[in-house]
Amino acid sequence: MERHIIHCDLDTFFVSVERLLNSELVGKPVLIGGSSDRGVVASCSYEARRFGVHSAMPMKLALRLCPEAVIVRGDHDRYAKYSGTVTEIIEESTPVVEKASIDEHYLDISGMDKYFGCWKWARELRQRIMKETGLPLSFGLSANKTVSKIATGEAKPCGEWLVEGGTEKPFLAPLSIRKIPMVGEKSYVLLRNMGIHRIHTLQAMEPFTMRRVLGENGVTIWRKANGLDDSPVVPFREQKSMSKETTFQQDTIDVGMLRRILISMVDALAFDLRTDQKLTGCITLKIRYSNFDTHTQQVRIPYTNSDRAITDKVMELFGKLYSRRMLIRLVGVKFSNLIHGAYQVDLFNDTQEEINLMQAMDRIRLRYGEQYIGRGIYLPEGDCDGQAKGGHHAAQPA
Ligand SMILES: [Mg+2]
Repeated sequence: MERHIIHCDLDTFFVSVERLLNSELVGKPVLIGGSSDRGVVASCSYEARRFGVHSAMPMKLALRLCPEAVIVRGDHDRYAKYSGTVTEIIEESTPVVEKASIDEHYLDISGMDKYFGCWKWARELRQRIMKETGLPLSFGLSANKTVSKIATGEAKPCGEWLVEGGTEKPFLAPLSIRKIPMVGEKSYVLLRNMGIHRIHTLQAMEPFTMRRVLGENGVTIWRKANGLDDSPVVPFREQKSMSKETTFQQDTIDVGMLRRILISMVDALAFDLRTDQKLTGCITLKIRYSNFDTHTQQVRIPYTNSDRAITDKVMELFGKLYSRRMLIRLVGVKFSNLIHGAYQVDLFNDTQEEINLMQAMDRIRLRYGEQYIGRGIYLPEGDCDGQAKGGHHAAQPA
């Protein structure tokens, strides 16, 4: 059966939300993110992009490029709320929806063409979302996720793009290889050094050549370059949770040790999130006392896969939950509400150094295994007030 897949993406989502609340920001270069010395740009308006600013850039550099920019600190909870409203509107009318990130969805509307035209249906949905939320949105429609995502990119800002079945290759041919999702900085440089700039060059290559140069990844890139992608749209709710538990050989009230164990569980789980390209939106802490009384506490958080953001939350939960000074038998951490997504939305509180550190630690874990690296934490002697923060994130190879 022919598939019909929509990819839709809210245009400069954080900026658009801020503009809804403050119309003075309309038409101005706007930077969202921390304004501290080491802050990072989480999102920026098209007016700022014209100056060469892009997200994940150090705020300092962005301001040097565009001194007249307005900085807005941003508010995750607010964005999560607007994102949820958009998801609700989409889910009301769409059979299969995958929330790919805070501002992106994939919709599988295969079969709808019998009753409505898919293109007409998609355009009407887009109008409805924009009318009900006030947020600009772009979408691409094609037979698969990759082509639709690239089509959304071509449709932006605030546009629509249809790639008819059978025209995928000519649509992709003139575009830069950069436009293929998955072509990261490393692959990009490698391909550029081979003299490859446009997708049509990749289309003309043999897949085994790509395998020789980039391994299995190369074959996937080749397939995408040729408009081939049979990956399904995975509904939000089917995605599972991930968790870890530690049962102590001897029940304990050693708060310092409990915290260290929680941190190492968070590190391991967050690493799994990042390697699976997932984000969590909900964290649960579980404590079982020596008398088998079990207590859990759950908190919704802005989607993230950052060690630090999650550790801070887990420590907060631990402070709330562990008030009984009783011997503990087991602690557990669970991440649920998982969505697909790369590290993207948690830049407000992060500095460039922290992001670099997290990436460097992941490279070590991938190469040597998780057991060789963890964060060093400082805990005052005899600390048991449940207030200490989750660490001073120095890498500490064992
Ligand atoms: Mg977006």
